[in-house]
Amino acid sequence: MKTVHAVCPHDCYDTCGLTVTADGDRIIRIAGDGEHPITRGFLCFKVNHYEDRLYHPDRVLTPLRRVGPKGSGEFEPVSWDEALAHVGAALRAIVDEYGGEAVLPYSFSGNMGILSEGSMDRRFFHALGASRLDRTICTAAAGAALRHVYGLQLGPDPETLPRVRLVILWGTNPMATNIHEVPLLDTLRKNGGQIWCIDPLRTATAARSDRHVQLAPNSDYALAMGLAREILRRGLYDKAFVSAKTTGLEAFQRACEPWTKARVIAETGLLDAEFESLLQAIVSVRPLLFRSGYGVQRQNDGAKVIWAVSCLSILLGTLQDVGGGHLVGNGGAFGIRHDRLTRPDLMPNPRPRRVNMLTLGQALSNRTRPPVKALIVYNSNPAATAPDQRAVLSGLQRGDLLTIVHEQMMTDTARYADWVFPAAMAMETLDIHTSYWHRYVQLSVPATRPLGESVSNSEFFRRLARAVGLDHPALQATDEELIDDAIDSSHPWMSGICRESLEARPVQKVRLASDVRPFVDTPIPTADGKLHLDPLPIGADPILGDVVPDDALHLISPSRRESIKSSFGNIATVVKQDEPELLMHDVDLTRRGLTDGDAVVVFNALGETLMRVRASDVPAPGTVVSYAVRWNERGGGTNINQLTSQRLSDYGGGGTFYSTWVRVRRA
Ligand code: SF4
Repeated sequence: MKTVHAVCPHDCYDTCGLTVTADGDRIIRIAGDGEHPITRGFLCFKVNHYEDRLYHPDRVLTPLRRVGPKGSGEFEPVSWDEALAHVGAALRAIVDEYGGEAVLPYSFSGNMGILSEGSMDRRFFHALGASRLDRTICTAAAGAALRHVYGLQLGPDPETLPRVRLVILWGTNPMATNIHEVPLLDTLRKNGGQIWCIDPLRTATAARSDRHVQLAPNSDYALAMGLAREILRRGLYDKAFVSAKTTGLEAFQRACEPWTKARVIAETGLLDAEFESLLQAIVSVRPLLFRSGYGVQRQNDGAKVIWAVSCLSILLGTLQDVGGGHLVGNGGAFGIRHDRLTRPDLMPNPRPRRVNMLTLGQALSNRTRPPVKALIVYNSNPAATAPDQRAVLSGLQRGDLLTIVHEQMMTDTARYADWVFPAAMAMETLDIHTSYWHRYVQLSVPATRPLGESVSNSEFFRRLARAVGLDHPALQATDEELIDDAIDSSHPWMSGICRESLEARPVQKVRLASDVRPFVDTPIPTADGKLHLDPLPIGADPILGDVVPDDALHLISPSRRESIKSSFGNIATVVKQDEPELLMHDVDLTRRGLTDGDAVVVFNALGETLMRVRASDVPAPGTVVSYAVRWNERGGGTNINQLTSQRLSDYGGGGTFYSTWVRVRRA
């Protein structure tokens, strides 16, 4: 028997510490690490039975060669040597004929380990001269807005949450997506604090908050700017703080001017009294924390929303209290040397073609120059998760596209591959993890060898480099060497954190004390050392309003307790295997002559998908909800991303999944 410390690798705020026990080559127990200071030994619903995922019958255990039509999922097992010989020769031929940019990587955060998410893979693509992928699907709009305001993505330490007296949960649902924040919120409340939730949906979090401000979808920017306008107009802002720490107040005031209370009330659908009580609460209670999720920035105005809420928190001087400010993420708390890890210096052309991952459908259309001739997918399942699914699936069907997928399961995307290579699970590989919520660095130690012939992402790209004939020594670095390259022990907040110290103590907090107030006690890393209230430098081409048919409904497709995008889509003990559901308010059901349980076609100009309608008070009238995302293979060949578009957010190139209009008809 062997017990090790590991880390949950999924794309989740919590980045839980795990205790993994193996008996020989089989993992027999995965539990929360009771010693972890913030995840405290309990796991979420999804990971509580992780053995079901580790040893699932869908797991890919050998290299596979396609023998049926693309999308059919018909493959035959082959040896690594044979598969690599074919793939290496095919990639080399494409690069020789079309250039390296004809190869497109496609990955995201299927595994959040620093090595697994972006290390040897990036070195490989850099050395090959491949197109660069802008990995924008989740947080790009927020990241760009936060860099503009603060220069860095950093917020208060979540462990200070119990000291806060008012938290505004703005478009975040920790009951589903950040379960370890819930006990901290409960302590805040026990200590006399209040939880207010701003969300267009009656989520589980909204239902247990002290107040739910249920605004219209996509009206967050209007609300934030309207509140800011009233704070400025009534002289309620922290003049000393704003004067000492910020630039751009006048430009910000001008940007607020159109957002009169009357206009904001019309756009948000709130009552005057609701607006006033929210305003009264945020100007009078301290410490005050604005806590935004990433869902709120997956809309046309996504970056502006995050910018506006940040400005609101700055105007009110909330950063001066321990625990106060605006928390979106804490990724900036860690010193990781991405350049040394990913080696952009290996690129033959330092500015290769860039492709935004949200426009995969367009990139695969064969109209780009050079055309994308090879697609290498890992840590991602774009056939299910990318927007404008019809365009994506049409691209994946192309007979002249070489699709290589490194995967743990036979996903919707793997079914379109020419070659599938088996990927190891996190508990089988060495890695280090940071978090985008808490401030702990962790070492994840393998409990067993990878199952079957599966290999880690780093090993896959070492093998692929050899197969293609890339011989730079950096492409054969070991995982231990990659960890050494990644950790920046010279960073003041990483002092003493290195591979050796993590081997002795696998959970370590960055050296940034909880009561150090970001951007008050730490430098502001913008060019001028100030917080920027100046509006985002958005060009002169605003996103035009949609032309919305009278009977259209606003579709929101958020995560739920049972899902992290498509990662658990085939695990029967986690995701129920019944039909896809569309939640609709009674008012909208009645208007359409529908009743709970009716089969409906949900459609718009991009596509359509079949669902079963369910009466629900989660959405307000005019809004519908479908939780993201089901596997196409388990939903009649399509899912909700038939209806989402490739349109990018206002700034930062982020997704606009939650700015989607649909219509519904009886099936
Ligand atoms: S998915 Fe999130 S909450 Fe669940 S175990 Fe993993 S890190 Fe923890």
